[in-house]
Parts: sequence; structure tokens; C-alpha cells
Amino acid sequence: MRNISPTHVKAPKPKLYQVCRQIPKLRELRRQALLERQTVGFVPTMGALHEGHLALVRQAARENHRVYVSIYVNPTQFGVNEDLASYPRPWGKDLDKLSALCEEFNQDERMGQITTIFAPKTRDMYPNLPPTSEVDGKGSFVTITPLSSILEGASRPVFFRGVATVVMKLLNIVQPEKVYFGQKDVQQTYVVRRMIEDFHLDTQIRVGPTVRESDGLALSSRNVYLGARRRAVATVLLKALVNVQYAFGHDKRRREDLLVAAYQVAANVQDRERNLLPAERARFDLDYFSLADPKTMEELEVVNPAEGAILSGAIKMLPIEDPQEGEDTGLGGGTTAVRLIDNIKLDLLSSRHHLIPELDGSWSGLTPQAGPGRIRKIGNSKDLDRNARKRTYLAQRAADLDRGEAGFPGE
Ligand code: AMP
Repeated sequence: MRNISPTHVKAPKPKLYQVCRQIPKLRELRRQALLERQTVGFVPTMGALHEGHLALVRQAARENHRVYVSIYVNPTQFGVNEDLASYPRPWGKDLDKLSALCEEFNQDERMGQITTIFAPKTRDMYPNLPPTSEVDGKGSFVTITPLSSILEGASRPVFFRGVATVVMKLLNIVQPEKVYFGQKDVQQTYVVRRMIEDFHLDTQIRVGPTVRESDGLALSSRNVYLGARRRAVATVLLKALVNVQYAFGHDKRRREDLLVAAYQVAANVQDRERNLLPAERARFDLDYFSLADPKTMEELEVVNPAEGAILSGAIKMLPIEDPQEGEDTGLGGGTTAVRLIDNIKLDLLSSRHHLIPELDGSWSGLTPQAGPGRIRKIGNSKDLDRNARKRTYLAQRAADLDRGEAGFPGE
């Protein structure tokens, strides 16, 4: 069935999707697709759709006749103190974005079509016991260890149990040929891939590159909480990661020599912010930086350049202090902490970049051959056009880094 490509079977392309809330109805639609020899690519989401989600839907439409998108805010992956209640749920806007994509796909006969939005209810997804976020709560769960307890799992103990459980449920319901996840949540892709292998699920996992803002910040549904002040500092995470890439490109291979480059950037920006007035600053806590084996996600002491590594990190932007009259404080008024994660692949190809972050968090231009003495600081430059071009370049760089992921096992 996987060999059916959108060009092999000519069936009229549905003009618009159906919204389906019931599992039996979804199964009926899926059975119909199978009978019509139409492949299904599935994009699970929690809604609050942005370009990162839409890029996965486009990829799914390139590779399948039909695309199913689920919009379901899964309670079991939120910790007891996390933002389940306030998680953004812009249902109407999400449907508008998917309708616009349908129009786009209608213009291009090589693309499949979004045919189904699956938006189940929690009482149907968790039919027996109410969903729990307690670590020792009762219920039927999928646990993938040790992958689920490291990194993100160490900070968020129930997160991957909730993710694996809901993805298992969704894959059992939809039974897609292919399922699409974003590189942005790299550990999630490992957990799901392991689950698919270990439970012999008949679905192929596909991973799409991280989509970023023009200054490199990875898109996330939670970015709406940041507000302007924290948003300006949030790029520190990618800058820290790219600084490690720079060290790697200059022959550093040992864990301490590489990660110090990330810690330096984070510490310098932390110091800078700490020294500002409360009304001006945006402070953050560092959660972790990780240098992991691309096959297992176990921490590495030394990077083998032939294999590369996954470099990831997480920071928590702290609530805004002393908000000012008329300030853009983001959704929720800047009162909640916002956790940000990001990752890049560390390899020889990706490390031949042209931009590096200064330790104070601004960006510097650098030709591949230039030594640190020739670094030109652009943080104070008056040439705004040039800065804008460099920011765009950075976003492209980051996209290139992500595309480097194609060489990872299982891709
Ligand atoms: P979520 O709605 O946050 O559960 O995300 C749904 C899917 O979109 C997951 O596979 C995410 O990894 C993916 N995703 C989220 N943000 C991005 C991004 N910036 N770039 C690419 N994929 C993303």
C-alpha cells in the first residue's frame, strides 16, 4: 500500500475537509480511503497552528493522497502544574489556516488534499478512567524507557508517557501509512520511532525540519505567551547552540569543550539581563544543554565527526518583572514562565557556517576561513538592511542545519 503515490491513482480531489469528532466516523472514512486505494498521511497536533505545523501538512500532502490532521490538546502530557487550562485553542483560526492550505493544494495537482480534521473529545480518547497527570496515576499508558526519562523527560516526568499514549491511540484509530512529526521536538521523534518499532505499528514516521522566525527562533504555539521583551531575548537558545557548532567547526570534539560554548553564551546573556532594570530585563533559567548520540540520544563524551551529534537545549523564560503601561506582554500578561526548547544537528557539513553569536548574544559575521580576530560585530551596526539580511541568512542557516537531519537513522 505504501507504494501508492499520489500520481498513481487518479481520484477526484475533495475540495474541502470534513471535521470529524467521533472515532467510529473517523474509522469509516479511513476504511473508505483504503478501499479507494488512497494513502493517508497523518499530522497529529494540539492546534494553535503555525507555519511549523503547516509545513508538516504540506509535506504530508506531497507524499499522500489524503492528509488527516488531528487537533487535540492531550491532557496526559501536561504535568499537574503545567498550562493545560490556558493552552491556546484558536479553533476557528486553525480551521481557516487549513482551509487556505486546501485552496493551495487545489491549485497543484501534484499535492494530495487535507480531507479530515480529527478533533476527538477527551471522554472518547480516554474511555475508562479520567486522564491523569499524576506520575503514579492509574490508567492505560505506553511508557518508553529510558528514552522518556532523560532530557525533556527529566524536567517533565509525565510528558513522554502522555505523548506515547496519545500517539498510540491516534495511530490505532487513524492507521495512516505515514505519520509526520517536527524536528523541533527531536526527543519526541525518537520516542515515537521507538514505539512504532517496538509495538510493530504499520506506520512510517517522517520528520520535517524545524520552521523558524526570521531571527532563528523556532516557531512554537507557546511563543504567543512571550511578549516583546522576552521574545527579544528568546533567541539566546539558538545562539548558544550555534556557538557550539562553531566550536565543532574549529575541531572541538570533547563534550566539555563543546558545551562550554553554549554555557558561555547563556551566562553572558543572563548577566546582561540581570544588570538591567527590572522594567527592562527578561530573565531566564537554563534547564539543560545536551550533546547526544544521534542513534540513541544518550549523552556523548566525545563526538565522532563521522556520526555527528544532536545538540539540544531548554530554557525557561521567567515571568516579566515590572510590566510597563502599554507594553506588549504577550498572552497572559507575562505572568507565566515560558519554556523553550530547540536543537540542531552537529556535523561537519553543518558547521561550515558564516555567522556566530557574540558572547553577549548579538550576532557576528564570519567567513568560513576567518579567525576570531576578523569577527565583525553587527550588534551596534547602523546598517539595518545588512542586519536584516543577516538575520534572514541565519534563519536559512538554521534550516540548513535541520535539513542535515536527513542523514539520521530511520529517515
Ligand atoms: P504540537 O501541536 O506542539 O504538539 O506540535 C505538533 C507537531 O508540530 C509536532 O510534531 C511538532 O514537533 C511539530 N512542530 C511544532 N513546532 C514546529 C516547528 N517550529 N517546526 C517544525 N515542526 C514543528
